Amino acid sequence: MSNESVNAEACVALGAPQSRFEMYAGREVHLGDLAILRALPVKGRRLIGPWCFLDRFGPLTFNQGTPMDVAPHPHMGLQTVTWLLDGEIVHDDSLQQEAVLRPRGLNVMTSGGAIAHSERTPDDNTGRLSGVQLWTALPESRRHGTASFQHLASVPTFETPGGLVQVFSGGLANVTSPAEHFSDLVGADLQVHPGDTLTIPLQPHFEHAVLLLTGNCAIGGERLSLQALYYLGTRRQELSVSSADGARLLLIGGPPFPETILMWWNFVARTPEEVREARADWEAHRRFGEVPAYKGPRIPAPELIRLAQPNPVS
Ligand code: MN
Repeated sequence: MSNESVNAEACVALGAPQSRFEMYAGREVHLGDLAILRALPVKGRRLIGPWCFLDRFGPLTFNQGTPMDVAPHPHMGLQTVTWLLDGEIVHDDSLQQEAVLRPRGLNVMTSGGAIAHSERTPDDNTGRLSGVQLWTALPESRRHGTASFQHLASVPTFETPGGLVQVFSGGLANVTSPAEHFSDLVGADLQVHPGDTLTIPLQPHFEHAVLLLTGNCAIGGERLSLQALYYLGTRRQELSVSSADGARLLLIGGPPFPETILMWWNFVARTPEEVREARADWEAHRRFGEVPAYKGPRIPAPELIRLAQPNPVS
């Protein structure tokens, strides 16, 4: 089966031999009724270390309904990493695990070869929603393994001149998150105090990127947009972010991922055949399991052969 018969996206870590400052505009997509900014993958930049996907949702307020309502859908070959600034999300999966995520907590779901889950705003909610969902690509050694789910009520935090850092994945400045990962990486929420500059050390062999989440800030005198991912390249000893009115940023990074991955819908694979089999298994109710805690129909897989690549449902 050729690549042409499955409209999947081959993703290679491009890396960079030095520090960069490159802007990649995100695109708006819809998760049901919820408009989100898809910041990764973007044209020209598919991976940041093992991070292969980044959705930014909110900030928004609502009086009724459940703005996030993603019905059961399958994943393979990846981890989902969900981090909230505001509001709450309830996760249910085919391992029968349920967790309500709130700010300062973390949900990490490792699909291994197969898992299904749903994510929605719980009925008991604050009427606010703001956060991100990321995926990491699992390395070859782990991508066929068993599925698991980890919920952290809080992640390690440290104060530094100029701000506050929450390390949700990997390590930063000798602070390490207990989140389970299978590649070297960092994922952190950087809070810059108003009128101040936050400086943190970086691993020079990592490539890094930042996404402005709230407020305003500048790096190297360049103001950041809320609608774009900024690629910082490698070989940086530290990162300094200044802010007039205060800001929160997402920092992600890792050594350039050594494997070429193939992304189609919610699957991270290596070959078109794997994508075809995973799609067929989901449609036949094989392998991925069911999510009985979710009341409602599951999400059907998109057609395999189409002109446009299907949007992941995250
Ligand atoms: Mn998902």
